[in-house]
Amino acid sequence: MDTTNEHVRCLIIGSGPAGYTAAIYASRANLAPVLYEGIQPGGQLTTTTEVENFPGYPEGVTGPQLMEDLKKQAQRFGTDVRMGIATAADLSASPYKVTIDGSKVVEAETVIISTGATAKYLGLPDEAKYAGMGVSACATCDGFFYRKKNVAVVGGGDTACEEAIYLAGLAKQVYLIVRKSYLRASKVMQERVFKTPNIKVLFEHNTIGLFGENGVEGAHLVKRKGEPDEEKVDIAIDGFFLAIGHKPNSDIFKPWLETDEVGYIKTIDGTPCTKVPGVFAAGDVADPHYRQAITAAASGCKAAIEAERYLSNQ
Ligand code: NDP
Repeated sequence: MDTTNEHVRCLIIGSGPAGYTAAIYASRANLAPVLYEGIQPGGQLTTTTEVENFPGYPEGVTGPQLMEDLKKQAQRFGTDVRMGIATAADLSASPYKVTIDGSKVVEAETVIISTGATAKYLGLPDEAKYAGMGVSACATCDGFFYRKKNVAVVGGGDTACEEAIYLAGLAKQVYLIVRKSYLRASKVMQERVFKTPNIKVLFEHNTIGLFGENGVEGAHLVKRKGEPDEEKVDIAIDGFFLAIGHKPNSDIFKPWLETDEVGYIKTIDGTPCTKVPGVFAAGDVADPHYRQAITAAASGCKAAIEAERYLSNQ
């Protein structure tokens, strides 16, 4: 077991747009950042295809290419990018200690947590089978590919309603698949959904599978599952969007940082500063609202600037 201790000025955990943008700024500020890539190198964008809303790419760019470009840009200024997963943290006193892969301990004067959030899936084998071929957990990222097509959104919360409304502006027909007999979303979102003519809400429906030859062509649903009048229903769709919540990857930091009830790290309003001096949270792990690549990148930039200021004040 490698238990070598190492001391760094700036430790960045996570390799999505927040982590790499923090790395670009931190390395240009001579903080010699060390970045651990985490479970999913490149983050959530590596699971999408085309990214058309990241400024600076007029023709669009693929998610993996964008992340490769960000990585190269961070390395160009000297960021030490390493494979490895942060498995434990001790933020009780500076220097803060982060365990990598259950063995090596890195001591850091500043820590930028950019571990992201993971979209929840239903857990159906077909979601994996059709990943990138009609299954998505981000309507803002992928909705554009379903212009004039039929799509379904799963979920009954604000995100599901928001995504259904967004998709209704692009797609021909949107089905909102809701497991209960009511929407959990706020009244105002519910009203918007009910007022949108091309959204059809399927209450008390559960998805049990997807079908299609070269991509999603439809979904197998069950209405009133387990009830005497249970009914099997198939719908024809080209896109299947999950909007059943996200899980922020904040578990190992919870003993030291404030989180909301879902687990998003709470920061001081409008900044990436946490209540622990020198520890910052950037990107989706601290953002229940926007969750966009560009907003994550912006908060990574802010975190690196704050880290630099914190170190110069020491
Ligand atoms: P929520 O947890 O609020 O809603 C998740 C939805 O997914 C629920 O309807 C839930 O059903 C459903 N769901 C969960 N698991 C399954 C499953 N296995 N099968 C089928 N359905 C499932 O998450 P959101 O992402 O919608 O919202 C997160 C937070 O962000 C909320 O506080 C929300 O208000 C906020 N938000 C606010 C927005 C705004 O104000 N504009 C926009 C987006 C989010 P059930 O109801 O049966 O539990």
